[in-house]
Amino acid sequence: MEIKRVNEQIAKVRLHGPGPSDVPASVLDALSARTIGHLDPDFLRVMDQTQEMLRAVFQTKNRMTIPVSGTGSSGMEALVANLVEPGDRVAVVRNGVFGGRIADEIARFGGEVLEISLEWGTTVEPEQVKKALSSKKCQALFLVHAETSTGAHQQHMKEIADIVHEHGAIFLVDCVTSLGGAEVKVDEWGIDAAYSGTQKCLSVPPGLAPITLNERAMEKLRKRETPVQSWYFDLTMIEQYWTEGVSRKYHHTAPVNMIFALHEGLRLILEEGLEAVFERHRKNAAALQAGLESLGLRYVVEKPEHRLPMLHAVFLPEGHEEGKLRKRLRTEFKVEVGGGLGEFAGKAWRVGLMGHSSREEKVQALLRDIQSVLCVRPVGPV
Ligand SMILES: *Cc1c(COP(=O)(O)O)cnc(C)c1O
Repeated sequence: MEIKRVNEQIAKVRLHGPGPSDVPASVLDALSARTIGHLDPDFLRVMDQTQEMLRAVFQTKNRMTIPVSGTGSSGMEALVANLVEPGDRVAVVRNGVFGGRIADEIARFGGEVLEISLEWGTTVEPEQVKKALSSKKCQALFLVHAETSTGAHQQHMKEIADIVHEHGAIFLVDCVTSLGGAEVKVDEWGIDAAYSGTQKCLSVPPGLAPITLNERAMEKLRKRETPVQSWYFDLTMIEQYWTEGVSRKYHHTAPVNMIFALHEGLRLILEEGLEAVFERHRKNAAALQAGLESLGLRYVVEKPEHRLPMLHAVFLPEGHEEGKLRKRLRTEFKVEVGGGLGEFAGKAWRVGLMGHSSREEKVQALLRDIQSVLCVRPVGPV
């Protein structure tokens, strides 16, 4: 049996789906750096720097800010396993696929879910949070900041955090898709714990889940009456490996090269500057939106101010088969866009401009390719 090397088998595809996004060459370089020991002094220095840069990107001073070993979902599992005790009640905003997964996860860890169910493509209003939390005592509220299945951008984060705290609960946030592409102000907004992933706007390959927990969340963890139900994600143990100046106690072998890659991805973002990065995402999103709308695609999220800059969920014009066109984009034009998820399967596309994929020249090329497969002339200027 002759099997070719992977490098000889993969096409040069531009990534414009819901993740992974295009990875910069220097991040791939970092990934292929020489593997060293997970307790090597050089690695410990890289760990410290990675934590420092993660805090900058999360806009937090939280000591407990680390990359969890695993994709974005492992960040969700780490938060739920550590911060939800059996019998806890958690209010979950469900306005797309990912809110649904969080609810499922909480139930599996013995929590009781109080669902705040919304129409897909919309976001939650502070009043709705207040109403839910007043109806039943909850220990936490969980929401998705950037719903990748619908393209909805949650607003009023600080107001919601205040309401959650007034009700004696903690505020937990999924910012997998937003981190590194739009503001995520963990401290200023009052988020108690959040998780993200590397392959969306951080433009690092999939494989790590940055998380951050403040003192309020850590206290809830320390006061648990039952042990954390997951050995692998038990932060009371993982903490001892990630704390500077402490014993660096072995828990599991850190994915050394993935952390090198994350280090470089974060370094690039901070070198460009967070504000500049967010502005680039906004500008390219506006150009893509104008182009898509002129080609007759309609946004799932009706209110323009509630649309994400890094993920555009759009319905195709009548008479177009989304799966077929998406396949043509991949085979003929070497570009990947995502299909609809959940309620929107077979009806919509999810077009991503995440991180390194959000570049002016890439947006123009993408619009040209989409125009070609749709065989339509734009109405108005593109
Ligand atoms: C991608 C995504 C996840 C899951 O991340 P994986 O890396 O696929 O495990 C969770 N939440 C949101 C909002 C996402 O977009």
